[in-house]
Amino acid sequence: MGKEALIRYGSDSNANALLRSALAQVSGLRCYSCTEPKPFPDLQIDHLVPRSTLSTNSVAHAEASRLPVGVHVDDPENLAVICGRCNRLKSDKDFRNSLAFEMHQKEAAQRADQVRKIVATVRDGHKLASQLVSAAQADLADGEARALFIEFAPAVVQRLAGLDEASVDFVTVETALRAERGLPLDVRLVLDNRLRFVRGLASTLWSVDLFDIVREAAEYVVSALTDRAGLAIDDHGEQPVSARLDVSPPDVMDLELTFSSAEVQRHDGKMNFVLKGEADGWLTAHVVGYDPRALSGYRDSLTDVWVFGQFELWFAHPLDQPLEPHGLNFGANLDAVACDVDWSS
Ligand SMILES: [Zn+2]
Repeated sequence: MGKEALIRYGSDSNANALLRSALAQVSGLRCYSCTEPKPFPDLQIDHLVPRSTLSTNSVAHAEASRLPVGVHVDDPENLAVICGRCNRLKSDKDFRNSLAFEMHQKEAAQRADQVRKIVATVRDGHKLASQLVSAAQADLADGEARALFIEFAPAVVQRLAGLDEASVDFVTVETALRAERGLPLDVRLVLDNRLRFVRGLASTLWSVDLFDIVREAAEYVVSALTDRAGLAIDDHGEQPVSARLDVSPPDVMDLELTFSSAEVQRHDGKMNFVLKGEADGWLTAHVVGYDPRALSGYRDSLTDVWVFGQFELWFAHPLDQPLEPHGLNFGANLDAVACDVDWSS
């Protein structure tokens, strides 16, 4: 147990109030001394071994005071709630000589972990609440605040939503897309925390599954990559044909697209989606050209273009309008995708 997890009675009145309510809760709102149920305001924290007898915390002193070994006088193991009446009676005598003292200690020890758990849970809840309040007040135009918000908001929202990691749907669109297109195209959507959050947001805002958006995005990437591969063939200076008669649009032979990041930003009444991912695979095209060395004078070659690298695409959509994934107006940056033309085949 780390230092930050130390839960003890101390000088912090807020922390003491929390400890008091946890002690009252585990005791079923009963005074440990008279065991009668009491209203919460009538229950105070009491040290079984009085604090005043332990000005020093030496082992010898602790043993003499009947404080269990390893227990600090302010630990929950030495605390219980007592009613006002019993507390007044108690001030006249030393409870350590009473027959019930050991029983009280035993009960306190049994409940101590539960007390710590309640205090820690409530404390985390307070922390979460204050984080949410500051997040709600954060100026998201500020770069640093924005970065923090993007990093932490998903986790907070998931926690609030009580999202159960184990029950989250990790199905990918791979199979569906493959069947739909009849192409050897492999599209994966890697759902990290952030993507799960964005998926939830898309579903809440527009009742749209992020998978459907990704599917459209994948179509767009494939078409953009096909164009790029075609251009790469056109631009290639070392082709073995002296002049091109025809270059067929490249066909996707084997392509894996992995979508691994999504960001959503609200701006001017619109939601801006940015999807990032990686492409890896190859396309092939028929290149027909004059070739004086060939018997026919033509050469028809199959040319492979290997593509790999990161792409980014985006779209903006008005918050208040229904979103239809089909026909989304994507913008894309595929500059980081390399196209290697292989003329050897
Ligand atoms: Zn009492």
